[in-house]
Amino acid sequence: LRQAEIALYRAKSLGKNKVVFFQENMQKNLERRVSLENMLFTAIQKKELYLEFQPQYHIPDRRLRGFEVLVRWESPQLGHIPPVDFIPLAEANGSIVTIGKWILQEACREYMSVLANYERKPTLSVNISVVQFRSPDFMDMVRSVLAETGIDPANLEFEITESVCINSPEQTKAILKELKQLGIRLSMDDFGTGYSSLSYLRTLPLDVVKIDKSFIDPIGTIPDDKNIVRSIIDMAHQLDLQVVAEGIESLNQFDYLVRYNCDYIQGNYLGRPAPIHTL
Ligand code: C2E
Ligand code: CA
Ligand code: CA
Repeated sequence: LRQAEIALYRAKSLGKNKVVFFQENMQKNLERRVSLENMLFTAIQKKELYLEFQPQYHIPDRRLRGFEVLVRWESPQLGHIPPVDFIPLAEANGSIVTIGKWILQEACREYMSVLANYERKPTLSVNISVVQFRSPDFMDMVRSVLAETGIDPANLEFEITESVCINSPEQTKAILKELKQLGIRLSMDDFGTGYSSLSYLRTLPLDVVKIDKSFIDPIGTIPDDKNIVRSIIDMAHQLDLQVVAEGIESLNQFDYLVRYNCDYIQGNYLGRPAPIHTL
């Protein structure tokens, strides 16, 4: 790419009326982005993607609730690439539709292959990107994965973010209702970080809200009555939603969540590293 093109590309990504002079690291960033994109397209065929299953536990009896599926990318050329780096790329170029389908299929297959080991059937929570959610054959894709893997939809949970509510709220509601009719549970991820109004959220057929780690981190460092986690839990319970808290790393945080009746925790547990199960 010519240097002027790179500067233009960067200026566009910053918005209108921005002047950007070419810098060497811009070229490096762009090259990395382009090569990441190319490699991402072939990552599935090359079997470079795999899944981790992060456990969720019931509070306070510590019974296993289920697992959230987290995608991982190990590239022979680039090493480990975290999902926060490649999911947005996959969303921008549309490959998230293919990747997301693979994630759902693979997660259900792995789940079914170990189900017999569990006395109580665990919940399988799968992240659904807004781009995937909006793709025209999303519902057909979901039905075909259910049919081909034989998973009981009652054990399947989809995690969506508030961004699915922006733009076409009525269409969103319709798809969520179809998913509910199939028997799939619905969870609002990163609850509280988006901009959707509470009055809209309460019209959605949700089962669970997940409180983001950014709300959990300050627990113990600020007074309880200054912390909004407590209000989020109360509000969710008033709407008959269950609450999963993410990223608990200290006993202080655990005690707080017990004290204010949070239902489940996910991730690092009582200061120990999160037991990442391969199911
Ligand atoms: P998320 O859905 O909010 O996922 C939770 C993230 O918090 C995960 O990071 C998880 O490993 C991390 N986490 C949970 N507990 C702890 C903790 O106690 N300490 C720390 N330090 N971290 C904790 P991860 O796996 O890097 O995923 C980041 C984001 O990437 C996810 O945020 C989600 O937005 C996206 N993502 C990951 N897997 C998938 C996937 O399969 N599909 C889609 N569409 N997005 C995914
Ligand atoms: Ca999630
Ligand atoms: Ca989160």
